[in-house]
Amino acid sequence: MPSHNLNETIAQLENAASAAGRPPPRLLAVSKTRPAADLAALAEQGQRAFGENYVQEAAAKQAEMGALAGTLEWHLIGHLQSNKAREAATLFDWVQTVDRLKLVSALARHRDPARGALNVLIQVNIDDEASKHGCQPEEIDSLAAAIALEERLCLRGLMVIPTPHDDPELGRPAFRRTRGLFERLQAAHPQVDTLSMGMSADAAVAISEGATMVRIGTALFGPRPRK
Ligand SMILES: *Cc1c(COP(=O)(O)O)cnc(C)c1O
Repeated sequence: MPSHNLNETIAQLENAASAAGRPPPRLLAVSKTRPAADLAALAEQGQRAFGENYVQEAAAKQAEMGALAGTLEWHLIGHLQSNKAREAATLFDWVQTVDRLKLVSALARHRDPARGALNVLIQVNIDDEASKHGCQPEEIDSLAAAIALEERLCLRGLMVIPTPHDDPELGRPAFRRTRGLFERLQAAHPQVDTLSMGMSADAAVAISEGATMVRIGTALFGPRPRK
């Protein structure tokens, strides 16, 4: 059995939240590279929300997990190519990496209305890294307006992957800027409730800056095998 640290991780998130005087965030278990058996073990302990980076990998795990997969909430947290939008709109309950208009229309077109609206987060390139995906902060309003026009999509908030730092405190300004953008978005779109930021190394700082969802892989499952 692989080691799982679900209760310990939840306790750490709760402690960080209470130290900051904030409600505990939702925990997204980031399961890229982990075998389906690891996800099933975590689901058995009560974890519902899982984040995957690749459409193909998620499809394979869902097929392997069978009926259990249908009881879980699947989030796409990796970059999405437009030609995979149909599969993504089918396999996932949330897509956290919407960063351009083309993706908005493609996801909406391919979402089966019988499944209810696909939840989407706008990914923002908060540190303006040339190598990173995500829209510029100035593009959030137009993307949000486009999403709001799509009945098959539900805009839930923002997602960021700031530049990693050896000292997580150095990431605080980026988290704080993101919270500012999030509050502006909420003022225009009242249903917006999700600010997805913070990973294993910097979750406490992200939570203290207002993350409502943290994406945790390593702290839950142990180090990922190197490719
Ligand atoms: C891998 C990944 C995570 C989790 O990172 P850990 O450091 O293992 O917690 C979170 N978010 C995204 C987008 C990822 O790709």
